[in-house]
Amino acid sequence: MAAPPVPPSNPWHALSADEAVATLRSGEAGLDEAAVRDRLSEYGPNALPAPTRRGPLLRFLAQFDNALIYFLLGSAVLAFALGHRVDAVVILLVVGVNAVVGFVQEGRAEDALSALHAMLAPQAHVWRDGRRVTVPVEAVVPGDIVLLEAGDKVPADLRLTRVRGLLVDESVLTGESMAVEKRSEPVAPDAALADRHAMAWSGTLVAAGQGRGVVVATGARTEIGAISGLIGSVDSLTTPLLRQINRFARWFTGAALGGALVLLLVAVYGRGYGWAEGLMIVVALAVSIVPEGLPAVITITLAIGVRRMASRHAIVRRLPAVETLGATSVICSDKTGTLTRNEMSARRLITRSGVLFAEGTGYAPTGRLVDAAGQPAMADTLAAELMRVGLLCNDARLHEAAPGEWRVDGDPMEGALLALAARGALDGQTDARLYRRLDEIPFDTETRYMATLHAAPHGGAVLFVKGAPERVLAMCSRQAGPNDNAEPLAPEVWQAAIDTAGADGERVLGFAWQRFETAPERLDATLVADLVFAGLIGFIDPPRAEAIDAVAECRSAGIDVKMITGDHAATAGAIAAQLGMAERPAVVTGADVQATSDADLPALAERTTVFARTTPEHKLRIVRALQSDGSVVAMTGDGVNDAPSLKQADVGIAMGNKGTEAAKEAAQVVLTDDNFATIVAAVREGRTVYDNIRKVIAWTLPTNGGQTLAIAAALVLGMTLPVTAVQILWINMVLAVSLGLSLAFEPAEPGVMQRQPRAPDAPLLSPFMLWRVVFVSILFVIAALGVFAWARDMRGLDEAAARTLVVNVICVLEIFYLFNVRYLYGRSITPHGARGTPAVLLAIAFVALAQFAFTYLPWMQLLFDTRAVALADGLVLICVGVAFMVILEIEKALLQRLGVFKELSGKRAR
Ligand code: ATP
Repeated sequence: MAAPPVPPSNPWHALSADEAVATLRSGEAGLDEAAVRDRLSEYGPNALPAPTRRGPLLRFLAQFDNALIYFLLGSAVLAFALGHRVDAVVILLVVGVNAVVGFVQEGRAEDALSALHAMLAPQAHVWRDGRRVTVPVEAVVPGDIVLLEAGDKVPADLRLTRVRGLLVDESVLTGESMAVEKRSEPVAPDAALADRHAMAWSGTLVAAGQGRGVVVATGARTEIGAISGLIGSVDSLTTPLLRQINRFARWFTGAALGGALVLLLVAVYGRGYGWAEGLMIVVALAVSIVPEGLPAVITITLAIGVRRMASRHAIVRRLPAVETLGATSVICSDKTGTLTRNEMSARRLITRSGVLFAEGTGYAPTGRLVDAAGQPAMADTLAAELMRVGLLCNDARLHEAAPGEWRVDGDPMEGALLALAARGALDGQTDARLYRRLDEIPFDTETRYMATLHAAPHGGAVLFVKGAPERVLAMCSRQAGPNDNAEPLAPEVWQAAIDTAGADGERVLGFAWQRFETAPERLDATLVADLVFAGLIGFIDPPRAEAIDAVAECRSAGIDVKMITGDHAATAGAIAAQLGMAERPAVVTGADVQATSDADLPALAERTTVFARTTPEHKLRIVRALQSDGSVVAMTGDGVNDAPSLKQADVGIAMGNKGTEAAKEAAQVVLTDDNFATIVAAVREGRTVYDNIRKVIAWTLPTNGGQTLAIAAALVLGMTLPVTAVQILWINMVLAVSLGLSLAFEPAEPGVMQRQPRAPDAPLLSPFMLWRVVFVSILFVIAALGVFAWARDMRGLDEAAARTLVVNVICVLEIFYLFNVRYLYGRSITPHGARGTPAVLLAIAFVALAQFAFTYLPWMQLLFDTRAVALADGLVLICVGVAFMVILEIEKALLQRLGVFKELSGKRAR
């Protein structure tokens, strides 16, 4: 069965809801399986065409679009014209190898990012075959009946058939940031897009309320599909750090070219070189000093970080988050489901007639009630009535996924209420039939209650309410007493019971009811007043075991963990203590936050561990207050109203399972397992990525600087050059693409989570790094010139043989230096340090092979004017490398001991 085309004369918004549904050959119960299959094959999946990526050729050519490369290409032409063919070919090889490496790395990084997008495939709630099911958005077809609620992203263009306070944020489509109120009545045929209130457009976000609509268009035929070129495009591969590095690289290139020009003049006028020869030397110097490969290596480092985070269930939506995570100094986390398991069980029932306990685990509808002494007990009328409110004021469903394994569809707390009703021997099916639901007010984190209106078995109607106990108490005037009599409310008694259960870490809900002689037409908030309080139920939701370890890890890493929860202060405080967040966690409530001025809030926020009974607005103020003190704040969220604080936080983290699409859109990171420990794992990866970027830089700059300085010194001092221009180019080509790149794959250094967080504004080129560049460069100069002098004067070798030794010693030094840099903070000369990662070993094998070829292959000898090196000389070079390593190790230890550079001590410079 295929859906007929859109009626040409009447657009969807001008049809009545029923007409639209009928035209699409759908109905209340939704489509059946066969219709879905047919329509899917006719209309195709509900997806926008993949954004066009630059083709491979364009991406390859883009690698050459860089001032330095132009300079190099110009030099190659010049070299060729001057008859230096070998030099010209080697320059072209340098350029070519760099472009290929850049091309491959960028491609891999882009692939990694698009794979992440696929992992975040959104879902839609639809009615099919009379049942509510959740399907991937791609599987939605015209005629499907879609359910919308706050925080959902509208999966396709819908003609709304029923709405309840539905507000939709259509800014992606119209640019208008005010949410639009939707209605189900038809609109004039010529109404503008923004005025078609009967429609919900694909890609827009539900800001509040609920709705239901029939799909009229999917995929590219939706309104957003018509204008979309940008939506869903791959995130750009740039971050603040990368921009900082690019700026630095440009500045460095400029300075190097300026320096090269001066050297050229010195060489030609001061040292009597010919123009052509001088130019070749200077070109080689410029090529060797400019870190042209650096941005590409750093991009791959970030991409590897993103991949590692994804494998630990943290999906990075925006690349800069990788860097920021590493600098996180405060994590503000939700409680339920993130720090706790969100596996609720109802444990304690408190009514006017006393306390009962429920036995049984999980959601299995088996178990029993016992009294305080542990003796089996029957539910009295009051307890039965309390459980009935919980059973019927409830949207969850339990099902047996495997024999004996019960799962909940919907809110775990509501699932626990269903299991409790079974343990208390209530007959859920009969009750549901007797008390047919007429209307409802869904749970809302702002109002903290849920209400349902039911037909009463003997005429009239009854209202059931459940919610945060103090909220429900405030709406009650009486309480359920013995013999079905309502008596005056005694709030203090209930408050004491709430505190007792809360102090045990129980999450407490209050329940109430109200009878109506005649059923009201519809339920609205004004009817939820003057209620009869039925009692309390306490739930246990144990902390996640891994969260306890993760909290401890944060404490050692100098990261403050704060809990921001909608739950009661006593419950939240007890759970915080169980998690080890503090000995006696400082707890404040949303009301306290409200009463504190912006000026005083930072101090309060800093010393508080638990914020209870907060609303999303409080969250936003708390983030701002913490940031005003210079903290880098990671904040979790799941609801539609969390979007502003997720955007405000330095790293907004949304829950992948529990979270709404709105929260995910606003977040930079999405956790696919909703787990606090995952955030800490991501911070650890973030720190590793930053360390690795620093390692790449710490390795690249001095090695580039050292060889350049050696030649410049020889040139200025009028000595014979220790290496030729073409040899410099060779070193640069072989090393830049192997050793430097291997650092991108480094695992976390031991103790990475025992350091304080780095200051967010810490410059990449810290004083320690600058010192390293100078110190190591000087060691390189000494080694290169020293080996050259030794070879000529003491060993009596000719120029070419001496130069071969110098090229080889530079490579040896670079390899040893790599091992030093792998541990910026710890000792490098350890069995562990000597082992190396596969990437490091591969890179070294590559360099060794290349050097053997360079030294011993006859055609290479011809090309580069090299000579075979005797074994004994080779060993001397290795000894030079070992000495170099020892000197650097002593330097690192000495600097650490003397505390010259703060960063080496792992303390955060505030
Ligand atoms: P967190 O913010 O850490 O996830 P939370 O789940 O307790 O904590 P909310 O979901 O905002 O936060 O809930 C706030 C309060 O509203 C809860 O403590 C509970 O008292 C009440 N509540 C939660 N879910 C429901 C529900 N389905 N029906 C009625 N009341 C609820």
